[in-house]
Amino acid sequence: MSSESTGDVPGPPPASQLLIGLARLGQAVRMEAWRNAGPHNLSPLQADIVSLLAGSRAPLRQGEIVEALASTAPTVSDAVKVLRRKELLDASRDPGDARALRVTLSESGRAEAGRLSVVSESLGGAVAALTPDDFAAMMRGTVTLMRELQERRAIPISRMCLTCRFFAPKAHPVKTGRAHHCNFVDAPFGDAELRVSCPDHEL
Ligand code: SF4
Repeated sequence: MSSESTGDVPGPPPASQLLIGLARLGQAVRMEAWRNAGPHNLSPLQADIVSLLAGSRAPLRQGEIVEALASTAPTVSDAVKVLRRKELLDASRDPGDARALRVTLSESGRAEAGRLSVVSESLGGAVAALTPDDFAAMMRGTVTLMRELQERRAIPISRMCLTCRFFAPKAHPVKTGRAHHCNFVDAPFGDAELRVSCPDHEL
């Protein structure tokens, strides 16, 4: 240990500290997904596909699932086959391309999506510990980081407000606490209500 103080707190620099923290949080969410396999014994990828389809108003092609989840065609194809065997997905031919399949949730798939949408006690409790201001700041920081990574093509485009044609940022006075406007539902909303996954998103 150096006897000479530089005035800096120890450890990696702040940007690394933030990334280490985010990695820990991602780990916790992923571990929870493994623990929450449910009655159909879903892998995290299978659960992601069920949740993605639950948030989509139309059936999706496998290619769209690959893109949305930043996965690979063979991995998604295997997961879709398993989900069909588990009778959680219905498949139909794509009207625009007879060789392609589109998938959507079956009735059991919708029930499973409902189960998956319930946040676990540990994750929900941790989020509930944030003050409203901290929650809004985290949403703001999260969407900013996601947009930057999307622009650098490091992650796929999410169906989030910042990339949505209906999003009007800071359309209202900040002091109202609901500075943004969603032109899809024609309503104001604040940072805490920013969406990172919205079924009505349009680029
Ligand atoms: S439609 Fe959805 S993604 Fe688009 S601005 Fe409204 S809430 Fe955000």
